[in-house]
Amino acid sequence: MKYVVVSGGVLSGLGKGVTASSIGVLLKSSGLKITSVKIDPYINSDAGTMSPFEHGEVFVLDDGGEVDLDLGNYERFLDINLGKNNNLTTGKIYSKVIESERRGDYLGKTVQVIPHITDAIQDWIEDVAHIPADGSGETPDACIIELGGTVGDIESAPYIEALRQFQFRVGRENISFVHVSLVPVMGPVGEQKTKPTQHSVKELRGLGITPDILVCRSTRPMTQETKEKLAAFCHVSADAVMSTHDVPNIYHVPLMLEKQGLCKILNVDCNTTDLLSKWREMALNLDTLTEEVSIAMVGKYTDLSDAYLSVIKSLQHAAMAVSRKLNIDWIEASHLEDSWKQQNSKEFDNAWKLMKNADGVLVPGGFGDRGIEGKILAANYARTSKTPYLGICLGLQVATIEFCRNVLNLTGANSTEFEDNPQYPAVIFMPEISKTHLGGTMRLGSRPTLWQVDDCKIKTLYGEGESVDERHRHRYEVNPDIIADVEAAGLVFVGKDETGQRCEIFELEGHPYYVGVQFHPEFKSRPGRPSPPFLGLLQASSNASQ
Ligand code: GLN
Repeated sequence: MKYVVVSGGVLSGLGKGVTASSIGVLLKSSGLKITSVKIDPYINSDAGTMSPFEHGEVFVLDDGGEVDLDLGNYERFLDINLGKNNNLTTGKIYSKVIESERRGDYLGKTVQVIPHITDAIQDWIEDVAHIPADGSGETPDACIIELGGTVGDIESAPYIEALRQFQFRVGRENISFVHVSLVPVMGPVGEQKTKPTQHSVKELRGLGITPDILVCRSTRPMTQETKEKLAAFCHVSADAVMSTHDVPNIYHVPLMLEKQGLCKILNVDCNTTDLLSKWREMALNLDTLTEEVSIAMVGKYTDLSDAYLSVIKSLQHAAMAVSRKLNIDWIEASHLEDSWKQQNSKEFDNAWKLMKNADGVLVPGGFGDRGIEGKILAANYARTSKTPYLGICLGLQVATIEFCRNVLNLTGANSTEFEDNPQYPAVIFMPEISKTHLGGTMRLGSRPTLWQVDDCKIKTLYGEGESVDERHRHRYEVNPDIIADVEAAGLVFVGKDETGQRCEIFELEGHPYYVGVQFHPEFKSRPGRPSPPFLGLLQASSNASQ
């Protein structure tokens, strides 16, 4: 087993996750089987209770793990499926050690950060690295370990120490340390500044880890002079100083690193497979697309697009498949509401203008009642104007409420999530869900959806098979008691769970594309293999824009 440890310095948001995944792509292109471990030093057990507004989306895995969005990068870049243990947090490590202590495993000893926490970290990494991830059932050959946060953070100290010790456990020849940093540009002549990187490497070395490779984020390619200066001050070879400068799209990143000789430094032959040529084709294709397709994304938190990262990626995968340049029009759902018109008529007009100009509408998942009426209006607009619509999770629920209100004339229809005792409960709390504990208690992870009809658009998109497996994350569901009435009026629940009771997919008859899914298809979309509900949306939207 080979390990690549990726740490970060200077500031967050340098694309450490993308760099780490890109290194994984290079290793994979040499024929190795890759897995990854993301370390998040926060005390939460997992990302499940964290706000996407602050931390970006909560990514959901097959086994129901609610994890950091970087695991989504790994799954998409490396085409692997990870489990909840691939995301290591302080909450998980301390729980494990405290449980061992209560069991009496350390009887007589004082339980300490060194060696008990640091040993537990190393054991965890080693165990998880050996779990097959690419579907072949075979043990991976290499594991990318990404350390979240920046070196010097108080929370990351035990992890740095564990990784320092880990090099002796696995042998120095089996581990590479990569440090991701920033090279800012200052002054009128655009001088590339190396001091922040020097300081952060100094800090890392002070903690006992000497990086083998530096990856420096900058706006423009780093000059040879800058690379040599960094090499001299940071105790790395000049060949091992890589620049990750701005590129037109993310698929260029592995190619950019390969071009600078990273495969040679990692001692692998990246031309063993045709993987990199496929990436090259994807990167260049994306650069040349000109004909646009516009999708209105009606959500909240729209000022932090990381909150919808996998949805954006899935739209991009599907747009590539229909050879269109993707344009996302972000619409804050509450701006569509009449009450907003009084508050700010310009924002109201602008939101409706964007929606009416879009070729397709997407209402993504969400929690809480802010903007709900706006989302219901968006579902109504798409249904009545025959604009292609995809509703994901909450997007399915709001469209069902809209249908009850405006087609079945049940004006009091609502979800019990937004109103305590609605006159007509169209969406209800699922009986098995805990009312006292919020972490890890939703209906989570991969579950099957069985087709209820033989012929519908979404089934054709999914292709062969009696059922589809997609990932879930919800507490509410369409009230099974209303299904018959809704279906009789044309909104057909074409996919249900294995009990035949729970609604999973609807499709509206006589509409170019009006589909709602209770699951989150965005978590399984891959470049080159777009998720079927997204592909359907993009196909219908591109037809509409012709
Ligand atoms: N809030 C809704 C529920 O819990 C939808 C969840 C979601 O969109 N992920 O069922």
